[in-house]
Amino acid sequence: MNLKTLFKISYGLYIVSSKSKEKFNGQIANTVFQITAEPPTIAVCINKQNLTHEFIKETGMFTVSILSQDTPMKFIGEFGFKSGRDVDKFKNVNYKIGTTGIPVVLDNTVGYIEAEVIDSKDVGTHTVFIGKVINAELVNDKLPMTYAYYHEIKRGTSPKTAPTYIEEKQEKITKMQKYKCTVCGYIYDPEKGDPESGIKAGTLFEELPDNWVCPVCGADKSVFVKEG
Ligand code: FE
Repeated sequence: MNLKTLFKISYGLYIVSSKSKEKFNGQIANTVFQITAEPPTIAVCINKQNLTHEFIKETGMFTVSILSQDTPMKFIGEFGFKSGRDVDKFKNVNYKIGTTGIPVVLDNTVGYIEAEVIDSKDVGTHTVFIGKVINAELVNDKLPMTYAYYHEIKRGTSPKTAPTYIEEKQEKITKMQKYKCTVCGYIYDPEKGDPESGIKAGTLFEELPDNWVCPVCGADKSVFVKEG
């Protein structure tokens, strides 16, 4: 069995949001899909450990913001690698309250869907929530992000709570040493640099400025370890 085959399944990148009383939360999800056209119905797959899971169970409502291909890594990191138990993810983000009363993230969003939970399926580590589409709107005509683009082009990695996470084994380092963030799993590859933070391709990890931080989770250089 080759589990890498599962990487060939296509996904997108989304922020799934919900609320509990006056508290908002949202998280990155890649498993969002339409189930039926009539009535319009979608499903999302959410890890039981996540705060958003608690909120969706409580409120029975969620929204999905479809992220654009040019979404910065830092933005993805804010929603994907931080917990709403520690930070208010909506503090510095542009959002609106949807018709269902659930917040809709608008930053880096090409369109959004509001849904009401009509069923759910316990699948062990995760719950699949099935939602009737209450409202859906386009925000702009930018390209949506695909998971493959995020994973390969933007050097993203899956957090351990993502349904698609498979522990990745790096191949032997032959040339420039890669370093891995022990907080989020992001890998700094000197051959690629970190263009979003102004770090040119070919910059060794050791040459990164002291104030450089992980582009995904914001941790500093000290949490990085040699990869491979
Ligand atoms: Fe990190």
